[in-house]
Amino acid sequence: MAGPGLLFVVSGPSGAGKDTVVAELRKRYERIRYSVSATTREPRPGEEHGQDYFFLTRSEFEAKNAADGFLETRSYNGNLYGTPRSFIEETLAQGYDVIMKPEVNGALAVKAAFPDAVLIFLLPDKFSYLRARLEARRTETPAEIAARLETAHEEVQYIRRFDYLVVNEEAQPQQAVDDLDAILRAERHRIYRWTDQAIRTLEES
Ligand code: 5GP
Repeated sequence: MAGPGLLFVVSGPSGAGKDTVVAELRKRYERIRYSVSATTREPRPGEEHGQDYFFLTRSEFEAKNAADGFLETRSYNGNLYGTPRSFIEETLAQGYDVIMKPEVNGALAVKAAFPDAVLIFLLPDKFSYLRARLEARRTETPAEIAARLETAHEEVQYIRRFDYLVVNEEAQPQQAVDDLDAILRAERHRIYRWTDQAIRTLEES
């Protein structure tokens, strides 16, 4: 199937499990490209520059933003986050699928720029698990956790602007990965993703 790649946007509140399900999906599809965001927040233990995020100072971030280097940016809990523009544009043009995991407003901004983007909202099977997961990972202060939970409720208001809802069940995390996998596979088969040339080639073979 020729043509540009697909853009998959996995979003949802902090603590929903975006990092885990996207990491699992990337293991299944080595050809899918991950869009590494930039942020001004401090790296957590184990996070690597260029792999988890591009960790920038505020002035570096602002300079890149002023040069139109971001597709979208968002201030979240006092830090800046942004999706680098050129990676997405170039990688899709090369025909690779791209996956990314911004927060909800970022996802909607990406959809505005790329109307064909597939937006997937990830939620835990109980909202109360968000708090439990954020507390368990011990990377945020209680005040930061409270702010993230407040944001989570605001984010759910936008759920109907997404294409899919995947529930990440605590008891069977593999199911959410399978569901995402099913969405990816189905989206790749949508008729408008096929060029006339690709169909003609099939017909003439
Ligand atoms: P964290 O600090 O936990 O890594 O990320 C905080 C929130 O920022 C998460 O909901 C995450 O999805 C979101 N985020 C990460 N990168 C981006 C980005 O480039 N743009 C936007 N809008 N949100 C992002």
